[in-house]
Amino acid sequence: MSKQNRHSKPIDQLTGIQVSDEFQRFDQRDEIYCRSEWDEEIQSDQATAFFEGYFMPAARTRRSDGFSQRDYALRNASWHVTNVLRDLRRQKDGRKEGFFDHFTAHEEGWSEPYAFESAEEATANIRRVAKLAGADLIGICAYDERWMYNTLFCDNSKDSKPLDLPEGLDNVILIGEAMDIALTGTVPSALSGSATGLGYSFDAVTLLTLAQYIRNLGYRAYATMNDTALTIPLALQAGLGEVGRHSLLITPEYGPRLRLGKIFTDVPLLHDKPRSYGIKQFCDVCERCASACPPKAIPFAKPSEKTYNRSNIIGINKWTTDAEKCFSFWANQNTDCSICIRVCPYNRDFSRWYHRLWFKLASSPLRRFALWLDDRLMDRRRQNSRAWWNG
Ligand code: SF4
Ligand code: SF4
Repeated sequence: MSKQNRHSKPIDQLTGIQVSDEFQRFDQRDEIYCRSEWDEEIQSDQATAFFEGYFMPAARTRRSDGFSQRDYALRNASWHVTNVLRDLRRQKDGRKEGFFDHFTAHEEGWSEPYAFESAEEATANIRRVAKLAGADLIGICAYDERWMYNTLFCDNSKDSKPLDLPEGLDNVILIGEAMDIALTGTVPSALSGSATGLGYSFDAVTLLTLAQYIRNLGYRAYATMNDTALTIPLALQAGLGEVGRHSLLITPEYGPRLRLGKIFTDVPLLHDKPRSYGIKQFCDVCERCASACPPKAIPFAKPSEKTYNRSNIIGINKWTTDAEKCFSFWANQNTDCSICIRVCPYNRDFSRWYHRLWFKLASSPLRRFALWLDDRLMDRRRQNSRAWWNG
């Protein structure tokens, strides 16, 4: 596994994100959910209730729209598959797979690598199986040491532990699962959290299936979700999209409504290239997410290396959200929030031709006109959860 100097060059001119000499690899224990397990600055009664509420006996149901028993029932069920996988080795080994650790729920594969005639053939084959297994988006890039967590977080000791991937996994397969657009329209609500939970649950099924397929071909494959490495820089390198002001990946196919996973593998694959979609330039003239964010966690300023707390990555020139403010808002409202996704002009159904046309307009010098059109034609207000239930 090639080690890169930590004083790295920019990822790529097209991504618009630069890595400076100050860059440091990120310790997973500083990620905001890990911090909620050990850092008193993050811990609170609301944060405890927030996490406990993902299990029905502790759900804080209330009369307000989107927070009823059935809203929590669906939201919590949407996470069930990931929770089952997370707990497989939790008690015995302190692993929270898919959250803090890579998945290990695999059977033994083939002993010899399948002889693909070329990397082109292998890439086409893996893409085909990924789609079959449920991937909405797939991209491939090279392993990049910079985005691997410097250390992992151990659920048992509440402290750091070494990264546990073997060497020689030179390729990374990025998998994207779309979040339901109608559920996202009901943010903020417990119901809307179902879009996130289902995104991850579908992701887990796709990742495990594809990784097992690669193992059955006789290669190594390690499936990961939010664990092991920073996903967004890899997704940028795989050309899936660009990062918006809200720090989320924006793609031409699903806008910001996407949950990502990745597979580290040694099957020989061709790499995709980073691409510019004009999204950064659009965000320069659009501040809607920053205005709509209740705790003001999203910057109005230009991309910079500014960090707010230890949950931010040091040494990258980009838009950075204040994870502490964001998490505190989630805890206070007792469910996750995606207001920045709901209001984003790229949150559209791009299966429709007129939204694809809008994307082209937004990517052009007429981006201010595209923003004006979004203001006039799209209803970005919160949708009523009862109306969603009534179809
Ligand atoms: S998820 Fe909600 S609180 Fe967090 S940055 Fe987005 S709008 Fe703000
Ligand atoms: S709401 Fe506007 S500024 Fe924010 S990410 Fe979306 S396009 Fe960019």
